[in-house]
Amino acid sequence: MALMEISSKIAAAAQDAGRNPAEIELIAVSKVQPNERVRAVLDAGHRVFGENRVQEAAGKWPAFQEEYDEIDLHLLGPLQTNKARQAINLFSTLHSVDRPKLATALARLAQEEGRCPNLFLQVNTGLESQKAGVAPDELDGFVADCRALDLPVVGLMCIPPAEEEASLHFALLAKLAARNGLAGLSMGMSADFEKAIHFGATHVRVGSAIFGARVRPEA
Ligand SMILES: *Cc1c(COP(=O)(O)O)cnc(C)c1O
Repeated sequence: MALMEISSKIAAAAQDAGRNPAEIELIAVSKVQPNERVRAVLDAGHRVFGENRVQEAAGKWPAFQEEYDEIDLHLLGPLQTNKARQAINLFSTLHSVDRPKLATALARLAQEEGRCPNLFLQVNTGLESQKAGVAPDELDGFVADCRALDLPVVGLMCIPPAEEEASLHFALLAKLAARNGLAGLSMGMSADFEKAIHFGATHVRVGSAIFGARVRPEA
């Protein structure tokens, strides 16, 4: 199955880069995929999945969690503050923390819920107006603010502009992370995860290359 192929490509890319494949987490991005395809990947033994929307994940994963142990869910898409409490209770990791208002809400809700997911801060490396993320020159301040709130920031995430060379964005994200003492790098999708691994990705987010083309376009 495609999952195995992607896993061996990850291992090969890691080896090429002189890295340990075990430091790279494969997040299987299951957004808008039919349940049979998700189940096939669960049956193959994979447990780490990514979703873009809280609502969709909340509708789909509790039933799988009844059936399969140790499912590890990551939120990749934008998070509205009014969904933050639900997100804290559903996901182990949020990859899209991108503004002070959300950070403040997460800090308060984490206190109330007694738990907080690991957080990646999303950086808008291409300064695209339609994309979420903090601007690179605002990142250091944002990291400091999140740390002041005692939030568990583990790394940075980016989605490079479709029409640009992804390597430049991966290199920039790696530099920003190093400068802020952050070990996690969430970067690389179906088309460019091997490249991302060369630039230090610790979390690659692969959807269509594992599950096939998404059946309905994303809302
Ligand atoms: C959809 C999505 C992915 C996976 O995209 P593919 O090209 O299907 O691998 C990764 N990251 C984010 C943030 C996404 O929205």
